[in-house]
Amino acid sequence: MFDITSEFKMMIGGQSVGATKTIDVFNPSTGEVFAQAPDCSREQLDEAIRVATKAFPAWKETPINERAQLLVNAAELLEQHADQLASLFTREHGRPVDGTKAEILGAAVWIKMVAQMRPPVHVHEDSEAQRVETQYVPLGVICAISPWNFPVNLSIWKIAPALLTGNTIVLKPSPFTPLCMLKIGELLRDVFPAGVLNIISGGDDLGPWMTSHPGFAKISFTGSSETGKRVMASAAKDLKRLTLELGGNDAAIVLPDVNVDEIAAKIFFGAFANTSQICVATKRLYVHEDVYDALRDRLVAIAKMTKVGDGSEQGTVLGPIQNKRQYERVVDLLESAKSDGLKLLQGSDIPNSAGYFIPITIVDNPPESSRVVQEEAFGPILPMMKFSDVDEVVRLANDSEYGLAGAVWSADTEKALSIANALETGTVWINHNLNLRPDTPFAGHKHSGFGVENGMEGLLEYTAPKSIYLAK
Ligand code: NAD
Repeated sequence: MFDITSEFKMMIGGQSVGATKTIDVFNPSTGEVFAQAPDCSREQLDEAIRVATKAFPAWKETPINERAQLLVNAAELLEQHADQLASLFTREHGRPVDGTKAEILGAAVWIKMVAQMRPPVHVHEDSEAQRVETQYVPLGVICAISPWNFPVNLSIWKIAPALLTGNTIVLKPSPFTPLCMLKIGELLRDVFPAGVLNIISGGDDLGPWMTSHPGFAKISFTGSSETGKRVMASAAKDLKRLTLELGGNDAAIVLPDVNVDEIAAKIFFGAFANTSQICVATKRLYVHEDVYDALRDRLVAIAKMTKVGDGSEQGTVLGPIQNKRQYERVVDLLESAKSDGLKLLQGSDIPNSAGYFIPITIVDNPPESSRVVQEEAFGPILPMMKFSDVDEVVRLANDSEYGLAGAVWSADTEKALSIANALETGTVWINHNLNLRPDTPFAGHKHSGFGVENGMEGLLEYTAPKSIYLAK
């Protein structure tokens, strides 16, 4: 019987297992430790890889329709337990429960949509002389590492395509948010054959142990660009396949022909949803001088009406920063903006609280060179810059080591499309944002990533092409 309140265990080889050591898990709204998660030992990591390796031959031979059906069964269990999981998720993450429940239900929909996909068989020639075809075969045991900002969704982005294509997997959630994924592991324990899906948790040593372990065929990693580079170096030793989804400093460009009242709330939540802890949040807002003041005043008005607080309290829209390390980074960025004399609208004073709360802060036309413009804040500090020349603003938007996503806001579709085409990012939204789909490739350009998640391209990253030449 699934019990959300029972001790948190890892899932290795179809068994719930604890560890001799544990890591503390904090509630970011109170700053207090409220649970312990297992701290996976090296021997337990070896064991997880051993059982996943053992399960691989039978799983890859299981017909894809059966594998897909087991994924659908897993999605239905998530739906059935969404309320229980969401309340735990809110405690470890801080986000209000509407948002955490939406993530669980969204993950279930995602799994079901991925389950409908099928890797192609490409027939290049089928003549009297020969048949030449390419199939896409699974790789083996996948090492999956996910971050804390969307701990369930971004884990499911890896689990669903990896298992559908016939791989087995060992997933490690972030040490800041391990609990919900550990409970999901427990919930799904009997869905897949033992060893197919393994979920482990641990401290800072566990990620490097995983990426350097020769038992993995591929690493699928989501996190910061800085860590991504370390993961890439570590993967080189065994030539492991690699997908990296990394950081971003996404620009949104607002042209003068917009209806400010219509777009203001969309832009606000595109920047501040999940307390701005979204890889594809708007992190640099470039607004044409004709509408700058009007949009700025609307954003400030929305900010004043938006309650930042404990995600478990009624009326809270935005929760705290998820963890102390990130909170300290955001505080440092805010302090640097203050000491540089930048004009901070709304917010700016950090409340005296044990929780990791940062007020919604809009920075009024800071210089391009300031840290708030140049760095990925991953917290609710939005720099808003005035522009007059479209070519120049496109140049500034592209003047970043990142290339994750971007947005264009305009009533003129032609003009917006030409700007979208000029942005050096893997995703561009026109007149909306934050919209991602399992059937559409999501690929960070430049330092925002390496490889692809989602879409057929993302699915095939869990496979290797295998070409067969049959002489007739
Ligand atoms: P992080 O890089 O600190 O950690 C991500 C994961 O990697 C965690 O599970 C962590 O334990 C693990 N890890 C840390 N050091 C490691 C190492 N040396 N080897 C292997 N694993 C290691 O990132 P974070 O702070 O958890 O997440 C925030 C960052 O993630 C932001 O930069 C954000 O933009 C990015 N992100 C990107 C996407 C995307 O799809 N592109 C999505 C969400 C978040």
